[in-house]
Amino acid sequence: MKLSDTANSLTFEASTSIWQSPSGHLLDLEFEARLDPSVINRRKPDLWRYREALPVVSDHHIVSAGEGFTPLLFIDIDGKKTGIKQEQFFSTGSYKDRGATVLMSHIRSLGIRQIVQDSSGNAGCAIAAYAAMASIDCTIYLQTQTAPSKIAQIKAYGASIEFIDGSREDVAEATLIAARQHYYASHSWNPFFFHGTKTFAYEVCEQLGWKAPDSVVLPAGNGTLIIGCYIGFTDLIKAGIISRMPKLIAVQSANCSPLAQAFYANQKEYSACEIAPTLAEGIAIQKPVRGNQILQMVKESGGEFITVTEKEIIDAWKDCASKGYYIEPTSAATIAGLKKYNAGYADETVISLFSGHGLKSTDTILKLLSSSY
Ligand SMILES: *Cc1c(COP(=O)(O)O)cnc(C)c1O
Repeated sequence: MKLSDTANSLTFEASTSIWQSPSGHLLDLEFEARLDPSVINRRKPDLWRYREALPVVSDHHIVSAGEGFTPLLFIDIDGKKTGIKQEQFFSTGSYKDRGATVLMSHIRSLGIRQIVQDSSGNAGCAIAAYAAMASIDCTIYLQTQTAPSKIAQIKAYGASIEFIDGSREDVAEATLIAARQHYYASHSWNPFFFHGTKTFAYEVCEQLGWKAPDSVVLPAGNGTLIIGCYIGFTDLIKAGIISRMPKLIAVQSANCSPLAQAFYANQKEYSACEIAPTLAEGIAIQKPVRGNQILQMVKESGGEFITVTEKEIIDAWKDCASKGYYIEPTSAATIAGLKKYNAGYADETVISLFSGHGLKSTDTILKLLSSSY
């Protein structure tokens, strides 16, 4: 198991407590995942059923709350039955627990006692929860205007909070400075996080009878699920279980769509773009650290980007609620993208998700219902 800085053709032992290359570049994890359906089929229904595919050396270090193997429900979306993973069912209310369980297990294996992290909310909740389980000291950097329910949740787990009065990018910069002294349990920089989110791809494939869907419609802020799915489906191809990568369809809010703009301008690298406030706070990332990697993965899969307006997000949210599904407005952005995608590809097997629970966003939902939006 190695950490690689592809920009400089350097590799490091994964047991080294680094989260970025000494030159400041991104690190990826080189790890050979083993997947044997006949063994996996007999195990209990959580994401550690893929044990030999998860980069944690000793069982002794695993930090787990029995997470994963969320139901794959086929729900009628505009007249088409679409497979929706119920990722709002995780203990902290969003799929970020997939990344947190693997990253925190790795952190425990390194013997690290103190971590920092930054988040628009849900990644902070997940890291704070798993840090509490592992008795690791944790500080989460947040924007002052983070949803109160998420602030309460992070505090409840015993994490310290540093509020930054500024943009999401200002929060990221403050955390990078703190990360000079403490290990950065980042869901954008740290490659171990994606080796947790990749289990989404494994589960989708297993739940379809060890078959790949045609496409997967995913949110694209920092792209934790897009990168995870790219890794996960690649592992399944290498294991000979599926034969091709599903199309990765990436959804951004039209009010914050740096990657979609680069994709449609046919650029390999994205640039900073104008942004406006959006209900999809969880994917409002102006400068995604791995943005160029995400662009390349979507392209290579034959996928595409879709942007959704505020009205489309609200309509999708209302549609889900009217069917009995209470989700975060950020999650509704992905469903709005799914609706657009389904309209063009009626005969495909399409999988998407409810990424976060509605209970996370009571304030915004109350405003939404009183139609001040
Ligand atoms: C994190 C998150 C997303 C997706 O964000 P990425 O930054 O692309 O990983 C979507 N919905 C919810 C509820 C989230 O918490």
